[in-house]
Amino acid sequence: MTSEPLEAAIEDAARLVAGASHLVAFVGAGLSAESGVPTFRGPEGLWTKMGEPDMRGYDRFLADPKKWWEERSQRAGDMKEFVDALDEAVPNDGHYALRELEEAGFLKHIITQNIDNLHQVAGSQAITEIHGNRTKLRCIECSRRWDIYHFDIEGSPPSCPDCGGIIKGDTVMFGEPIPHDALEECAAQSQMCDCMLLIGTSAVVYPAASFPEQVKSAGGTLIEVNPNETPLSAHSDVILRGAAGEVLPKVTQQAKGIVQE
Ligand code: NAD
Repeated sequence: MTSEPLEAAIEDAARLVAGASHLVAFVGAGLSAESGVPTFRGPEGLWTKMGEPDMRGYDRFLADPKKWWEERSQRAGDMKEFVDALDEAVPNDGHYALRELEEAGFLKHIITQNIDNLHQVAGSQAITEIHGNRTKLRCIECSRRWDIYHFDIEGSPPSCPDCGGIIKGDTVMFGEPIPHDALEECAAQSQMCDCMLLIGTSAVVYPAASFPEQVKSAGGTLIEVNPNETPLSAHSDVILRGAAGEVLPKVTQQAKGIVQE
């Protein structure tokens, strides 16, 4: 796909959005960049500046879950900036545009790699969080989840009242398998999807990155919203080289206009 001027690309994207029968948004950290949450990759990414972190997070958790619970409230080291930004973040115009697309009947589902809970705060309903949600806890055996603020199970580490499994934060750690329920929903949504919005993702984290590939190989269309080139750019039918918070509201308004014509 060769790039076209942004305004023309927005028109093309709006037409695809308005004509899709099962539109899915596949979202990455870039959507929340305008909410002040740093991305990992990309020119301003945390890892681009500081290098990649230790990828054995889940192994370390399994080796000593009690220690993880004890250290949970401490904020030290490289991740302090990230955790503080997440605490402060509120949805931006990109999140609200996705809610509007859903309310207007265009958007059927959001598959998000973000853990920041901002889709929910913005009011979106149909969401699968492939890498979990920082405001929840999860049993590693049966995947039952709890709201982190309404959790009164004792023990260190606490264990699941249903199955006895160890409970951890819902956010998927480095090296941790994606929870089955999330993975199955993502696969089902990708199978139904005939048009996928790829928003603010560098598309290098698997298995998440395989969903757009699946849509494309089944004959669906891909619309990329990202100020920078990614491995998915070459496979995208329309490329919107701009910030999600600026571009998505325009796509939404134009798609609504097409339906009213
Ligand atoms: P990534 O950090 O690898 O890549 C971010 C992408 O967003 C880049 O391609 C960058 O060009 C793009 N981008 C930057 N600003 C943008 C903007 N304003 N609008 C649109 N795009 C913009 O992100 P990823 O692909 O989601 O993978 C990183 C993993 O890290 C994810 O799986 C996620 O779990 C986690 N993460 C989550 C958050 C969050 O919850 N907000 C933040 C950072 C990382």
